[in-house]
Amino acid sequence: MRKPLVAGNWKMHGTRADVAELIEGLSKLALSDEVEMVVFPPFLFIDRVEVGLADSSIGLGAQDCAVQPEQGALTGEIAASQLRDVGCGYVLVGHSERRLILLEDDDTVAKKFASAQKMGIVPVLCVGETREQREAGKTFDVVKGQLKSVIDVLGIEAFESAVVAYEPVWAIGTGLTATPDEAQAVHQELRQFIRSYSNVVADKVRLLYGGSVKGGNAAELFGMPDIDGGLVGGASLNANEFGVIYHAAGSK
Ligand code: PEP
Repeated sequence: MRKPLVAGNWKMHGTRADVAELIEGLSKLALSDEVEMVVFPPFLFIDRVEVGLADSSIGLGAQDCAVQPEQGALTGEIAASQLRDVGCGYVLVGHSERRLILLEDDDTVAKKFASAQKMGIVPVLCVGETREQREAGKTFDVVKGQLKSVIDVLGIEAFESAVVAYEPVWAIGTGLTATPDEAQAVHQELRQFIRSYSNVVADKVRLLYGGSVKGGNAAELFGMPDIDGGLVGGASLNANEFGVIYHAAGSK
């Protein structure tokens, strides 16, 4: 059985006051052992979120890491070793905003994935197609290509302790959501692709859906057989709504 995971990507949002409010709201949520919740604050707030949520079971993640696993001379970057030190158990790699706006390529994404794992942090590999790619019928090729580029470098075993998030770019922050059937079709394709390498990994790896997940659509999405939870952006900035999304993952 795969334990559902609900992950909140705060992106580049929040002031100290906003973060304090969010921590307060999150710490009041009733969580169960059946579903995991992890939040991904901006780097500069990770430390205070770790302190603020110390008494809760909410896990901590970062939105990115350096290609180099250990701390060193790399101005402006954050090493996975430093993330480990401040209590991060997860890190997002290959988010579409980094791929498309900051021009991160598959090679860089694979290096970041490896750096995270080297430091004992679970990478959450984000994959997803643009609207143009979907309209051109290339969705499966694009997402499998993004996955394969990591498998080719690190082997399928690397996914024994990793998470994959399918996030159609056209659905991120747009209010458009893939229908549960559309999302399930891609998740099924991804799991079958992983199965072509290893049954064990295919059964174990958690595949999250991301793209305008809200309290009102989460249950239907998370109810699909190959969707093991969600990566949530905008709606994770509201503790109550994030709580509703979290509970939807437990209703499968
Ligand atoms: C995201 O950025 O990972 C995301 C899914 O954002 P949103 O939920 O706002 O679409």
